[in-house]
Amino acid sequence: MAKELTKPLEGLFNRVYDIFSIVDRLPDDMTDAEVEGVLHVLPTDLRRTMSAFLAPRLREASLEFLRLIKRWLEGARRAKEEGKKVVLVPFNFPPEVIYGFEGAWPITSEVLTTLGVAALEGQGERYWDFAMGLGLPDFACSANMIEVGSALTETDFAPDIVLNDCFASCDINSKTHEFLARYLGLPLVFLEKPPDDTPRGIRQYYRYFRAMLSDLEEILGEKLREERIREVLDRANRASEFYWELWDLHKFKPCPVPNAFSLMTYGIRYTMWGQEEAVSAMEKLVKIAKDRLSRKEYPAEREVARAWWTYTSYYFDMPGFFNWMEENGITHLGDGLDLVFPRIIPLDDMDSMVEGMAETARNMPMTRQMGASSMSAQWLEDIIWATRELDADCCIYCGHHSCKQTWSGAAVVRRELLARTGIPTLVLQGDAWIKRMTSMESLQEQIKEFVDNVVAKKREGRRPTRRKPASAAEAPAG
Ligand code: SF4
Repeated sequence: MAKELTKPLEGLFNRVYDIFSIVDRLPDDMTDAEVEGVLHVLPTDLRRTMSAFLAPRLREASLEFLRLIKRWLEGARRAKEEGKKVVLVPFNFPPEVIYGFEGAWPITSEVLTTLGVAALEGQGERYWDFAMGLGLPDFACSANMIEVGSALTETDFAPDIVLNDCFASCDINSKTHEFLARYLGLPLVFLEKPPDDTPRGIRQYYRYFRAMLSDLEEILGEKLREERIREVLDRANRASEFYWELWDLHKFKPCPVPNAFSLMTYGIRYTMWGQEEAVSAMEKLVKIAKDRLSRKEYPAEREVARAWWTYTSYYFDMPGFFNWMEENGITHLGDGLDLVFPRIIPLDDMDSMVEGMAETARNMPMTRQMGASSMSAQWLEDIIWATRELDADCCIYCGHHSCKQTWSGAAVVRRELLARTGIPTLVLQGDAWIKRMTSMESLQEQIKEFVDNVVAKKREGRRPTRRKPASAAEAPAG
């Protein structure tokens, strides 16, 4: 007899929202003893995450960041109560476009998944398992399937509209969002990216973007107002200026920007860009990095490696990842999700603002690389640019289990990067959002070996030498 599918009793959004309701009660000036006290009463998975965020060097930034996330979650709850529509978007869609509507509020699948993995006991595994139990394929991307799995339980806070911005940049992400909309009977809005980056393809993308706005206007029953868009984009522009300032601060050695700021930067970008909270959170990150620079603070004795993560990072063990790296002198300069290329949008008239938003959307991570006419060429170009800008001495590809997209180009990108810049890439295996695939201890071991044996020797000016096989019998097969 077929076993009945066990449905999680509570959804991810609702549980995360409950946890974040305590954030406003944490005082700004928490002492180490108070932090200890708070950590002591938290369940294990949340305790690990909070121990990373509340480390003394991160505490001030983390509180600002966590409060911003709380306001974002609350905004979605309140929007529903006030009869506004909640629009579920993937991370590669700029949320400021949704803030342009008075009657809408964005929630982002991958951010919700990350919050669930970081904050919930048992992380996001029950939602992933539920989705698999429905018969969905295990090659789906955990980044979005965990949140979508929760929505599919129909016990969670649900969006009113699904916006699919992965058409042509990530098929599995696109299908996952489409499936959710069809399953729950929600309106589905598409934004397609033509795989043509010539002026003709760009003009076509702008047309698709305008069509997507018209679809939203029709479903929301609201015309975009020029004055409101200008206000939202003015705030987005101010946040973008801080983004570039923070980018430049990464160029100092040792890097004064804590590793976790990489995650916080895109956490802000994908949620509240276009709101005042994003401006002040980005300003805070810049201020803290500048203060650390003036005090020459770095968490290890010396910076032994400057690593650029070529696509995503890992999110299931914050202290074991971000904090561990910098405590071992390995700077995380950023990852592919930080490549949001924010631009200052001219606010002259409706046309320039709409075109500015379209161009922003076209250059969001994943859309820009995986939706390009040559995925590996564009991805490589962006990695080379970032590594040169920030003087990285190594790259790490996290080998995200779910990401067939990037796996298909990883080998060629690694080879070409080495040939053109001399920068080696460590290729790992594991799921960025599911700890069951590869343990953090194993990942740390591989990162450490790479840094000690490849990066350190490169820094000393010695190429790592390969031991010559003594005889044909010792040579690797094939
Ligand atoms: S991580 Fe890979 S599979 Fe997942 S949404 Fe991004 S491109 Fe798609």
